[in-house]
Amino acid sequence: MGVKPADALSDQLRRIDGKGYKAYKDIAGAYDFRQFTLYIDHVQGDPFAAPSRVRVRVSRPESGFAKETTANQSRTIALGDFLTRRFFRQAKRLSKGSRGTGKGGAIAIDRPGQQILRRSSFFINDEFVEARFFMGLPAFGRKVAGRDAQTMYFSELPDIVNSTMFFSAIDEQSLYRHLETAEDADAARAQLPEKGLIAFIADNSLLPRRSGIDDRPLGDPAAVRFQTDDTYRVTLDLPNNGKTPGMGIPRGVSLIVGGGYHGKSTLLHALERGIYNHVPKDGRQFAVTVKNAAKIRACDGRSIAKADITPFISNLPLHKDTAEFSTQNASGSTSQAANIIEAVEAGAEALLLDEDTSATNFMIRDRRMQQLVAKQSEPITPFIDKVRQLYTEKGVSTVVVMGGSGDYFNVADHVIRMTAYLPEDATEAARAIASRDPAGRQEEGGKNFGRIADRIPEAQSISVYRRNRKMKIAGRGLREILLGETDVDLSDLEQIVDPSQTRALAHAVYHATRFMNDGLPLQKVAEKVIADVEKNGLDVLVPHITGDLAEMRGMDIAGAINRIRTLQVRQA
Ligand code: ADP
Ligand code: MG
Repeated sequence: MGVKPADALSDQLRRIDGKGYKAYKDIAGAYDFRQFTLYIDHVQGDPFAAPSRVRVRVSRPESGFAKETTANQSRTIALGDFLTRRFFRQAKRLSKGSRGTGKGGAIAIDRPGQQILRRSSFFINDEFVEARFFMGLPAFGRKVAGRDAQTMYFSELPDIVNSTMFFSAIDEQSLYRHLETAEDADAARAQLPEKGLIAFIADNSLLPRRSGIDDRPLGDPAAVRFQTDDTYRVTLDLPNNGKTPGMGIPRGVSLIVGGGYHGKSTLLHALERGIYNHVPKDGRQFAVTVKNAAKIRACDGRSIAKADITPFISNLPLHKDTAEFSTQNASGSTSQAANIIEAVEAGAEALLLDEDTSATNFMIRDRRMQQLVAKQSEPITPFIDKVRQLYTEKGVSTVVVMGGSGDYFNVADHVIRMTAYLPEDATEAARAIASRDPAGRQEEGGKNFGRIADRIPEAQSISVYRRNRKMKIAGRGLREILLGETDVDLSDLEQIVDPSQTRALAHAVYHATRFMNDGLPLQKVAEKVIADVEKNGLDVLVPHITGDLAEMRGMDIAGAINRIRTLQVRQA
């Protein structure tokens, strides 16, 4: 596409001022603004439609971002994140925002939360720095507001670009802090395996959040900063922060116990979110977990496609098969069983469970209940009888929050007691109690964990076409994706934290269908999508470049596919 002089855009806008909105279509194209090139990729059809997709590209040498700002992937992603935040703030400050009809007048870029994620909102390589964002083209009624558009393109946008996309306009210290924090978090995560850990939480971390709907840290005087107990003390050596002491959570089976309201779930949440890097002031910036840690919860009502849940469930009434268990309406316990089996199938190294969101009958079955309800008439083998086998046979560690049952003392390698938000080791105390006061229950479910079957998904069972034959691939909010006529409920995929991830996930599921039908198991299909994203960026997921996508894990792609109600699979 030829690059026209910026004046050509100005002339165009003058010419179409006051004409019907459709006249805007003519402004699509590339324009030379001297310091930057403007690409108007897609022009909205009317003032109420999704805003127009726009890019701005600055040559890398002119942008002034030195090589060291993109020295590795951690920094490159963090630089894109930093610039996205900066662009968002500057757009708010320097643009008048909505004006005229509908969504006209707004200049908007994706808005990151507390996490630093790979995003499509900025693309940075050795040649250029590119912002991808949205502009609502202004209108009066349904007529082109050419002068307002002039202001947006020739005054507001250059101001935003000049104060965002050039190193000279940016606070160097906060930029480097951002890059170095992300680099340290990735380095910390990389050190976990050699230290035999699944997670690390630095001393002085701030784990609690402002509220259930506000992911920012709870203010300092109100919050107790995290301090490790000596038993779990580990010191990581990070490239920028240097020696960083904190708590290492070892592989194996770990129990988090403690009184109600003493911070157990908050600790587990930090572990769930430790798969992501966080912004410098988040409080969890040096709290990291292995990437493939899976939060597991019960979610009754979900669909399940031919999962082998026999390790946990067998002998269902009416002889319903549990080696190839399918349902459109799982119970609490069967959903939790399937969630675990599917997570392990998708490559989970660690499972994170909270009693608050688990099915009780899935977690425990005590001595008294074993006497009253015979094993023959109880299909469920509780998690307590499988959690050790999961570790010894499959290498999958578990962290479980369990304030309600001391039976778990028998199966735990480590017991961490939370008291007034601080951890202390209680492993010896729990062992002493277990030997003094036996649980007296029968182990159930046999000597071995059982089979984790690979499942091969069928592409034809995932349709993205609506009845009117139009394609529909979209995210709706945080926990739902729309594929054709099918809504997929992701409410139990709690490690999805950003609507842009959800959007990307919808496209990733569709992208995955192209790798299906070669007999490839679901995990491999998901890995192929991730490999594609690693190599070609998030742009590879969508037909047109769009700035509102964020990365997700292969596990989450598998998780989304597993929740499609029309999914058909066969076991390998
Ligand atoms: P539990 O799971 O043990 O019942 P929670 O983790 O849900 O407890 O925490 C109870 C409350 O205490 C929550 O409102 C949480 O935000 C708050 N909280 C958790 N950790 C801290 C902390 N370190 N400092 C201050 N408040 C905290
Ligand atoms: Mg709790």
